[in-house]
Amino acid sequence: MPSNTDQVMIFDTTLRDGEQSPGCSMTQAEKLRVAKALAELGVDIIEAGFPAASQGDWEAVNAVAREVRGPIICGLARCDRDDIEKVASALAPAKRRRIHVFLATSAIHRELKLNMAKDEIICRAVEGVRIAREFWDDVEFSPEDASRTEVEFLAQVVEAVIDAGATTVNIPDTVGYTVPHEFAELFGYLRKNVPNIDKARLSVHCHDDLGMAVANSLTAVVAGARQIECTINGIGERAGNCSLEEVVMALQTRETFFSARTNINSQRLYPTSRLVASITGMPIPRNKAVVGENAFAHESGIHQHGMLKHASTYEIMRPQDVGLARSSLVLGKHSGRHALRERVKELGFELEEIEFERVFKEFKALADKKKELFDGDIEALVLRSEGTNSGPWALVALRTRSEVDGGGAATITLLHVDGAKLERSASGDGPVDAAFKAIEDATGLRPALQKFELRSLTEGEDAQGEAVVYVNYNGRSYRGASATTDIVESATRAFLEVINRIEQSQRAQLA
Ligand SMILES: [Zn+2]
Repeated sequence: MPSNTDQVMIFDTTLRDGEQSPGCSMTQAEKLRVAKALAELGVDIIEAGFPAASQGDWEAVNAVAREVRGPIICGLARCDRDDIEKVASALAPAKRRRIHVFLATSAIHRELKLNMAKDEIICRAVEGVRIAREFWDDVEFSPEDASRTEVEFLAQVVEAVIDAGATTVNIPDTVGYTVPHEFAELFGYLRKNVPNIDKARLSVHCHDDLGMAVANSLTAVVAGARQIECTINGIGERAGNCSLEEVVMALQTRETFFSARTNINSQRLYPTSRLVASITGMPIPRNKAVVGENAFAHESGIHQHGMLKHASTYEIMRPQDVGLARSSLVLGKHSGRHALRERVKELGFELEEIEFERVFKEFKALADKKKELFDGDIEALVLRSEGTNSGPWALVALRTRSEVDGGGAATITLLHVDGAKLERSASGDGPVDAAFKAIEDATGLRPALQKFELRSLTEGEDAQGEAVVYVNYNGRSYRGASATTDIVESATRAFLEVINRIEQSQRAQLA
């Protein structure tokens, strides 16, 4: 593949590198939802997971391979037959698929983690690529910690894996250590000193420990990389990965400078970003480039004056280019199906008819409690994921009381999917604490509460309040979220969602 083509492939690893970051774990239903959104966004490759990590990971990769069409579906494997076979079986139903094998190459990793000599590393890497090629032609190799590997040795590894049949060679800055100028030199060195370099596509994978993941990735493109590995909202290990929306908009906004373009439908960036934020519970900072709430807000008088004359005075991108076409029209009680359908579309969501009807019903119910419905309300209704209300427990009734001294009491009624109906009362430090205790009593599960967040989704006294609950249970972290116009109810539902997730994962482990 010639590396001077102006097409840059976008390899999304939200479901693999992103999902493995603390607090970002997703259920299988949520992963599928994200994968479908990524396909609509137009990413070229979806790295769906690491099938050898657990049975649940295998199943999630397999589900994406079965149900998502369009992008190449990729699975990660260490350089051993068992891992690679697990990727191959998980990806079997996919139409287009890739095996991604990796092995660390830096001295630190060789000596302290792998205890392997240089020639053993080359042997193992070559063997991994060869085994992967037994299954399919599309094989990617990553020398983990490449940016801290001796360049001469890195060049030897790259040459050997391309000879063995790797069609993509990814150069990861695994620990977020490199800086743009140095990274460009590394790519230049490889292109000059690896004789078969043109037989593979060069890829880049950067972490943001020093805040340079996007800058380093763009520099790599200038230096010849034609695939960027990135995640939605930059989620990922530690400080995260290269942010997909930033790197894509940099390439699009500065297309003449980079002479490179992507297949991304940039108008899907904002809705996809919101979807991932809502599912992972990792909020988008207000001042985040491209998709932050303030990214297109102009506050100062001089800027506003300029904007009124012509938007291009202070705006290098248009909000609608990233899918942020906000209308000032507010929906309410009298808005019908048509108005809601139009707004849902404007916000960037495509809903199946049956799903739309569910949203419309909830919209009507919410409009009875709340005079004006803003975009944030509509988004919350749409984003309420299928996984959320999947049980086994459902909240039937909730009564709470708060005392002036700060205490509170709650009575809850829960219905279990196998028909059991339980009513429990408890008192606590406040109505929320009391409701949590009553749920623990009814379900017999007592997770350790880590964090509890409340935020208002929109403005106004009758705004929906979103509650997010983070807990630890048996060494795993779980998260639940809910938004209603009553914060005590939101908190109770969010906690019940956590309980449901724990029960679901216990069942999955038994199965
Ligand atoms: Zn990574």
